[in-house]
Amino acid sequence: MTYNTGISNNILDLIGNTPLIKLNKITKKLPGNFYAKYEGFNPGHSMKDRIALHIIEEAERQGLLKEGSTVIETTSGNTGFSMAMVSIIKGYKCILAVSSKASIGKINMLKAMGAKVYVCPAHVKADDPRSYYEVAKRLHTETANSLYINQYFNKLNAEAHYNSTGPEIWKQTNGELTHLIAASGTGGTISGVSKYLKEQNPNIKTLGVDAFGSILKKFHETGEFDKNEIYPYRIEGLGKNLIPTATDFSVIDVFEKVTDESAAHRARELAVTEGLFTGYTSGAIIQAAIQYAEKGMFDENSKVVLILPDHGSRYMEKIYSDDWMKEQGFFDAKKQAHEEVEFIK
Ligand code: PMP
Repeated sequence: MTYNTGISNNILDLIGNTPLIKLNKITKKLPGNFYAKYEGFNPGHSMKDRIALHIIEEAERQGLLKEGSTVIETTSGNTGFSMAMVSIIKGYKCILAVSSKASIGKINMLKAMGAKVYVCPAHVKADDPRSYYEVAKRLHTETANSLYINQYFNKLNAEAHYNSTGPEIWKQTNGELTHLIAASGTGGTISGVSKYLKEQNPNIKTLGVDAFGSILKKFHETGEFDKNEIYPYRIEGLGKNLIPTATDFSVIDVFEKVTDESAAHRARELAVTEGLFTGYTSGAIIQAAIQYAEKGMFDENSKVVLILPDHGSRYMEKIYSDDWMKEQGFFDAKKQAHEEVEFIK
């Protein structure tokens, strides 16, 4: 990790050590101070760089990967990009099974990073042979010398964040944070970071962010896997229709659900208030912070760290497209933080 201290040996040297940035406007009306851990600063533009590097290097240590091996993963985009980036430097082939929810831009990005991409239907059950989980499993059995990363069920996922993101946040806040807010998809980020932080100070509260249409919140509260909670939603990367073993529910204090619409508007607002150009789930996390504040979670002494998972460039055809917003029925001229484009003829 040699950010800004001279020559980096390769792009992987720049993974981690992301900045913690005070939010000055978007959370102004809320009690306490709010800080964004901006994971879009990673070279692959998301926090998934951390798990890609850790899981691949751990597999190398265990002798599971050798030159010419193939790395296989299921991904909504970010993990795939990071896996492809690490594979390039390490000399591995990379196969990715992607949900059809991912934008064409994301898929093209994976191709640009040398990966072979399979696009699988998003709205089928996890055990359907067409789901990206099942497609990845099949490709793994069919491909010699392949490693299936399986981020939803791989304990190294949370370990990557326990080893890096957690200690970084602790140091950057001088151990003074009171709350952590993080999204949960695989649960790797929230579980690894929360475990580390609670070991340093058990009073730190970890607030999860889930989506309407996902089962995580209800499962956390009741231990029940309620199929009725599951329905399609648009936010990419957060919430789940299964229970990932990568999630340690015991280190999450509470979950809050957010809507697709509110998360999209908050991401757009974050760009024009703080100059932070982030992804869809970052908008969800800001929205959740506001909902938690409305429920009385914070006071003037609260120091709240929000992990913003990725960069906004991956969402140009989605939340940053007025056409897409209109198609979803989200477009509200009064709420638009964006200036209209004027075409000079
Ligand atoms: N936000 C985005 C944009 C993601 O890609 C992911 C990963 N699925 C998450 C949030 C959730 O992170 P995690 O998988 O570590 O729970």
